Amino acid sequence: MSDADLNVEAPSRNPRFGTKPAQFIVDDLIIAHIEKHLGQIRRNLKQYQEKGATAAEFVFPPPRPPAAPIRSRAERFPIRRIFCVGRNYEAHAKEMGVAVDREAPFYFTKASDHYVASGATVPYPAGTTNYHYEMELVVAIGAAGFRIPEAQALDHVFGYACGLDMTRRDLQSAAKEKQRPWDIGKDVEQSAVLGEIAPAAESGHPARGRIELRVNGQTKQSGDVSQLIHSVPAVIAHLSQYYHLQPGDLIYTGTPEGVGPVKPGDRLEGSIDGVGTIALQIGGPA
Ligand code: MN
Repeated sequence: MSDADLNVEAPSRNPRFGTKPAQFIVDDLIIAHIEKHLGQIRRNLKQYQEKGATAAEFVFPPPRPPAAPIRSRAERFPIRRIFCVGRNYEAHAKEMGVAVDREAPFYFTKASDHYVASGATVPYPAGTTNYHYEMELVVAIGAAGFRIPEAQALDHVFGYACGLDMTRRDLQSAAKEKQRPWDIGKDVEQSAVLGEIAPAAESGHPARGRIELRVNGQTKQSGDVSQLIHSVPAVIAHLSQYYHLQPGDLIYTGTPEGVGPVKPGDRLEGSIDGVGTIALQIGGPA
């Protein structure tokens, strides 16, 4: 069809367009069609753009960040890094056969991927015959900071939770003996167990409170968070000398005495007064 063919007066089948040159009727039809389908066209376009962006940016879809539940909030706490303080209770240092370092705390880390929510069943991990529990107070950082003064440290805390720093003790001990890093003993899959986070805005900052762990109903660990050698503000002040702390960072503050092994089928239940509770079930071999 040429332009000349369209340049004739013709009635449209759509009464809305009346009688006018055919080319205008065609234009009106196109506009009406687009108007009718504009919503769907926009939705399709958005979908194509999103798919296109993902395909261009990543070779496979990235995993969602691990995130912990927060008491009485619908939103979750996205976990960024997991720092752990070693030997921060005197009686635990003693049972590990080492002297306490009062000068400064020391740290190891776990990948945030190893986060496990309280209430889960985890497999008994590979490579160990001495998998241990360590019940701990966990600090959830809510505001960024570097070289934070101890007096302002608590301003950077979002809240607190119960944590279990699960440990392949045999591999940790072997690494220590060989003066190697502890990673294989501590950076264990599904070993960073965390309970619901209690926001400090509601529950405050626990300077004291009973910390307990029971295995199959029997009390194995019992201490008080006031026995921490390096307090929460001291740890934040010290750690932030070396790291730019970020919202989402977690700090496992160390365990009281009474650590010990678990076996498949064991049921762990912990609590810290004023903070909350935690539970873990040990499943069969991984
Ligand atoms: Mn620990």
